[in-house]
Amino acid sequence: QKAEWEKLKNEKTITKDGKSFITAANIGTPNDVPAAVDNGAEAVGLFRSEFLYMDSAELPTEDEQFKAYKAALEGMNGKQVVVRTMDIGGDKHLSYLPLPEEMNPFLGYRAIRISLDRQDIFRTQLRALLRASHYGNLAIMFPMIATVNEFKQAKAIYEEERQKLIDAGTPVADKIEVGMMMEIPAAAVIADKLAKYADFFSIGTNDLIQYSMAADRGNEHVSYLYQPYNPSILRLVKRTIDAAHKEGKWAGMCGEAAGDPIMVPVLLGLGLDEYSMSATSILKIRSLMRRLDTADMKKIADQAVTEAETNEDVINLVKKATNQ
Ligand code: PEP
Ligand code: MG
Repeated sequence: QKAEWEKLKNEKTITKDGKSFITAANIGTPNDVPAAVDNGAEAVGLFRSEFLYMDSAELPTEDEQFKAYKAALEGMNGKQVVVRTMDIGGDKHLSYLPLPEEMNPFLGYRAIRISLDRQDIFRTQLRALLRASHYGNLAIMFPMIATVNEFKQAKAIYEEERQKLIDAGTPVADKIEVGMMMEIPAAAVIADKLAKYADFFSIGTNDLIQYSMAADRGNEHVSYLYQPYNPSILRLVKRTIDAAHKEGKWAGMCGEAAGDPIMVPVLLGLGLDEYSMSATSILKIRSLMRRLDTADMKKIADQAVTEAETNEDVINLVKKATNQ
């Protein structure tokens, strides 16, 4: 099997009926790029930029960040790299940026909420990203967007920094897509509104499931509620994809579920465009997708969304339809 997957390294991701999709890698630092390339990644769908902050003893400077983003873009050689702005808080801490003690850190001061409050930190990151954009195909996304106003505020700050750099004569890419993580149920419910502003959605199932099920993603006592195939989750996913497509935008997924052989057939049927996962899963998923027919998967997805009652129903449906 490994040998068969190896042959797909330089192949595109195409289904049995000839439709193309993108299989991409999730990375934490530019050091992960060679493994992404080696596993045939067609893009980086999620660069978790918070690792730059976590691996540093103090706030990383604009230049340090610029170098890291530039290295990732150059390493991917023109393929798209989606950098997520700092997603600190929740379970991710910085020694040099003490956060308030909170009863519910996952529901608290984190990600874009910090960035909109600490604009000094956010603007530094955006400047580093904009400067790096000249060296490859950069896209930027904001984590933990819950409302239209959060997205608009973040985008406005981005536009200000972009204009300042252009006025100063700094080379900046002409086109940088600016999108958002879809990982809060309230945002998924108004995906049609958000799709007017965001250039793309990237569905973060790890958090989307945690928040939809009200079950801490790291708490083993409630881990049975981690149900990626539950029709409640699939309906939010479908809503997100449909809303993006209606506005001519694309939708990807960068949570664990995007590299899951049971989830992927359903996602194909729902029309998800980009599948971003740990690099080591890419060839396995590409191989699976080559055996699937999108029209067949659409039927499975329709059943999963409308008829299935439980997570298990969907697992059984997919296993039967795909001989897994
Ligand atoms: C997610 O929430 O699914 C996601 C991809 O982001 P993270 O796991 O970094 O929170
Ligand atoms: Mg998340």
